[in-house]
Amino acid sequence: MSVVALDQLGAYVDVPANARRLLEKSEKEIKCTLSMRVDDGTMIEADCFVVYHCLVRGPAKGGIRMDMSATMEETRELAERMTYKSALVGIPFGGGKSGIRIDPTSMTRFQKTALLREYCHNLRHELEHGEYIPAPDMGTNPTDMAVIYGRLDRLDVVTGKPPRIGGLPGRKEATGKGVACVCDWACRDVLGGTLEGKRVAIQGFGNVGIWSAAFLAELGAKIVAVSDVTTGYYDENGIDIPRTMTAVESGTPLKTIAERRTISNDELLRLDVDVLVPAAAGDQIDARVAQDVRAKLIVEGANGPITPDGDRVLDARGVTVMPDVLANAGGVVASYVEWRNAKSGSITEKQDTYETIDQTLRKAYHQVTAMAAEMNITPRVAAHAVSVREVVEAMRDRSWI
Ligand code: NAD
Repeated sequence: MSVVALDQLGAYVDVPANARRLLEKSEKEIKCTLSMRVDDGTMIEADCFVVYHCLVRGPAKGGIRMDMSATMEETRELAERMTYKSALVGIPFGGGKSGIRIDPTSMTRFQKTALLREYCHNLRHELEHGEYIPAPDMGTNPTDMAVIYGRLDRLDVVTGKPPRIGGLPGRKEATGKGVACVCDWACRDVLGGTLEGKRVAIQGFGNVGIWSAAFLAELGAKIVAVSDVTTGYYDENGIDIPRTMTAVESGTPLKTIAERRTISNDELLRLDVDVLVPAAAGDQIDARVAQDVRAKLIVEGANGPITPDGDRVLDARGVTVMPDVLANAGGVVASYVEWRNAKSGSITEKQDTYETIDQTLRKAYHQVTAMAAEMNITPRVAAHAVSVREVVEAMRDRSWI
């Protein structure tokens, strides 16, 4: 099933039948098995899926997800989101994604490195030729990207690397930075006023959740709840984000930090807050949860955290949703700069990354919100209409249609 309901966009954008046919399927799908014997003689075996959705605008760009949820279906949907995300923010990449079906926490660092080397071996053709440029996603991090770089020995084959080996200063914060920017602008437009003192709950305290929290706290928001897959941490007086970040990054479980102030992920999504930022897994807010959401504004840090049914309920209840293709596009914007720097030899500063994200997402935000207001549609439908238009025009430019 397509993430973007192309049949419903006809009123806002011209999608010729031949373009629609191309967008309703992936351009390329690879399925392989990563297998290795570890020290104690046991086997580690993981299904691996790589999908290119549409490459009319450039090479396939998208992260590597390492999670037990990974399937071809999930990878397909995530690759599709990447096509539209890059198009919305005007970056010359197509949509790609990898999914490796394994629990990354079940492996030692050495085992994860070995598995990633198997991944490089299986995908050496696509990586060496620059057809697919990976980055971190759920379950992978800059060290993992450094392993891929080490295997292929070229800086432009992968983004999200640590800055010391050709990574971009500001890349690891990039998605959270963009989420915070979108929260800031949408807060003014939807809630009236700045983020100062606004109550925010964030689901997921990994790369996106942590950095969203850090930038939101800097903007004066009161982060009352954060969570990971095991627990939620609630403090009505506001969580000390720098302290919590440091503790989590040095390995203290969120459960230990929260002590007796724990809540479930389900409770977190229903908290009485101004802004809700789902920044963990997909499909977290279905129709049932959406009925109970008390935030007036949701900013999607994660990819696809709201189901289509959940979206309809939220819309009917007057909750504004800033969609993933806009809200979490800071990562792909920074990845583009990293890739471009790797090709040109340029070096840029962290502040440049932040400014590029701010400017690029601001332009897309205004385009989306202006269209949503003019046509009386949700920001999600407007974002999809803008990006589908870009992709269809690129198909015409290349004489695909
Ligand atoms: P991560 O692995 O760094 O962190 C994920 C966090 O979510 C962890 O705290 C984990 O415990 C928690 N989590 C996982 N499943 C959960 C569940 N079912 N309920 C509650 N919490 C759960 O991953 P990340 O890179 O922060 O990615 C999070 C989301 O953001 C994903 O949807 C990803 O596709 C999306 N995203 C990431 C980036 C990026 O640059 N990393 C860019 C765009 C979008």
